[in-house]
Amino acid sequence: MKTQTTVRCRCGNKILAEANGSESFPDIVCPACNMLIRITAPLYFSEVGVRVKLRSKAELESGDFTLSIILSAMAVECELAFLFFWWKRMDRYRSDPTSGISATQAENDLWENEYRSNYIGIVKKLNGISKLLTGSDLDSFTGNGMTKHFEECLFWKRNQIVHFGKMDFGKEDAEKCYSIASTLFNIMYKMQKKCDSGQVSYRKNREG
Ligand SMILES: [Zn+2]
Repeated sequence: MKTQTTVRCRCGNKILAEANGSESFPDIVCPACNMLIRITAPLYFSEVGVRVKLRSKAELESGDFTLSIILSAMAVECELAFLFFWWKRMDRYRSDPTSGISATQAENDLWENEYRSNYIGIVKKLNGISKLLTGSDLDSFTGNGMTKHFEECLFWKRNQIVHFGKMDFGKEDAEKCYSIASTLFNIMYKMQKKCDSGQVSYRKNREG
């Protein structure tokens, strides 16, 4: 998968950076002011979720609105899955710090099965991950009651493409979907930060 992102240099110049697959973005030199720019991976967020979202933005900007919508929804799903596995690893680590923070293949298989069985549909995913990381469902965590809106305006739109073959979405639709994906990324960032900062007990939020 190719990923593109536009970087703004301190001088104001905008530069397009590209990466392939999981390779890092190369360092770039601003052609206007010769400043060396390093593009580093974000501290939070999964690499794949961020890259799929960047690709959604690139498709939006190049006019492939339907593909951009599919990628916006997929980016959120990548990030939710990433947070689930991250939480599982952290939970296991807190109960036994000597085990390290990497998961074994057997653990990954077990958690994958749990994710597939218990987190069916986007609302269950959004609320389930929110509960794990913050102790409350998404609407309670954000306090704005937008879960239904996120579901209908992003995921139902994606479903119209994937389930019913609707392929002629326009710019406005794609922009709205990308904006919802960005909002959800911000919310997920806050969830992970709250959990990671120890404001939330890992033990208390175990399912069951
Ligand atoms: Zn510059």
